[in-house]
Amino acid sequence: MADEILVGGVWRRGSGAVVESLSPLNGSVIARVHGADPADVDEAVRAGAAVAADPSWRDLLPHERARHLTRIADSIAASAEDLAALQTCDTGKSINETRALVASAQGTFRYFASVLETMDETLTVPRGPYVTMSVHEPIGVVGAITPWNSPIASDAQKIAPALAAGNAVVLKPAEWTPLVSLALARVITDSGLPSGLLSVLPGPGGVTGDAIVRHPGIGKVSFTGGTATGRAIGAVAAQKIMPVSLELGGKSPTIVFPDADLDQTLAGLLFGIFSSSGQSCIAGSRVFIHGSVYEQFLDELVERTRKLRIGPGADPATQVAPLVSHVHRDRVAAMVDRARGEGARVLCGGGVPEGEEYETGAYYLPTILDRLPNDSATCQEEIFGPVLVALPFEDEDDLVAQANDSVYGLACGIWTRDYRRAWRIARRMDAGTVWINTYKQFSISTPFGGMKESGIGREKGREGIAAYMRQKSIYWGMTEEPHSWAG
Ligand code: NDP
Repeated sequence: MADEILVGGVWRRGSGAVVESLSPLNGSVIARVHGADPADVDEAVRAGAAVAADPSWRDLLPHERARHLTRIADSIAASAEDLAALQTCDTGKSINETRALVASAQGTFRYFASVLETMDETLTVPRGPYVTMSVHEPIGVVGAITPWNSPIASDAQKIAPALAAGNAVVLKPAEWTPLVSLALARVITDSGLPSGLLSVLPGPGGVTGDAIVRHPGIGKVSFTGGTATGRAIGAVAAQKIMPVSLELGGKSPTIVFPDADLDQTLAGLLFGIFSSSGQSCIAGSRVFIHGSVYEQFLDELVERTRKLRIGPGADPATQVAPLVSHVHRDRVAAMVDRARGEGARVLCGGGVPEGEEYETGAYYLPTILDRLPNDSATCQEEIFGPVLVALPFEDEDDLVAQANDSVYGLACGIWTRDYRRAWRIARRMDAGTVWINTYKQFSISTPFGGMKESGIGREKGREGIAAYMRQKSIYWGMTEEPHSWAG
């Protein structure tokens, strides 16, 4: 891959430090890319502002902007296999998952194109001799900052609605995984999007990301990542009085009632925590099991966990692929060691897999822990790896108290045949998304986001475009009489 980034419509070498993408399979350097420095950020923002204000883009009608998004979706479809393979190479994720993420990115552009075709503006009810309406307009240039776990899908979730809204976008992908975001940028620019509307600027968060957030020309930041970073970005946004949307971390509970369908629940739990090797904001990382079935259910869960196929992401049979990097794998391992120190029982996993084929990769065994109180660090902190902690509960009140006793509020899963109980629990949970007898299913038409320290704002859904717009109210006077106040 050429050492080029996309700065204000120009593919060229970045002026910042070198960002290295390392192979999760053996730690070797896959690519070296010069990242963006603050001067590159400035150039990208200025170019974006100029093209966003140019009548050839600014005055496009929604259905005309929709055509750009549809062309981008078609180009993603044409490059789907290459994009999926590249993301597997960069993030380690299994090829089945990266294919699904590319399909999701394509669907996101198509969805927002169709929203553009069907959007309404509102005539509001007048209280005098005027007509009043509320319209939405582009912000100008928006910043988008994404993490390393699902880059193409999270990039698309920001770029598509932001462009649909008529903005220019300056995107900063994570340092560990810049490649697929740059490849997506090639696909998007090749599809004929006006030059300068999209910049993709890899680089360290504290330098490149910070420069984007602080830049006076950036009118909104949409961020996905960890809660600590989100808090820092929110503080800068508060100083600028700038809107910000924050999709942050989670420690999501999944709940097993004794009447749940056993096979479906086991499969859903395994998928919910161990797919993506647990590197998912919505991973169902705490399982609450009713006390009456606790040990039997756990035995079965542990047995099935031991059978999961661990291997390289490129193998379609792999269920649990290496983690994104050896550094991250070692962090996960340290958290499991801390759990041991807290007194955890390690029911399975708890280390790296044995065997020659696993020696060089950033593998970690799917791990299940229990016998920890809900207020232990292991039960409270996001691990972002293939680690599940099990807790028993007695009744609904006990369950809700324990499950909601978390700073996070991203997602929740409920497994029961009793739909009345599912409804009661769903309404009591602090969670932006609740899955009932399913988990980790996503529809682009359904808003997504967190409660509490899992974030502010929603992505996806018809309102996803309005999140990248400024609202304006317009009053049209309809009387020919001068105002009576003036006599
Ligand atoms: P980080 O918060 O460390 O990083 C996310 C992005 O922010 C990266 O691009 C990073 O750059 C950048 N960044 C870091 N510091 C700053 C800063 N001061 N100013 C601006 N940008 C900055 O998260 P991770 O990459 O470790 O991702 C994992 C986290 O993301 C988990 O907590 C996970 O739950 C969350 N997440 C949330 C999702 C959601 O939708 N709610 C979805 C997916 C993940 P760099 O890495 O290059 O330094």
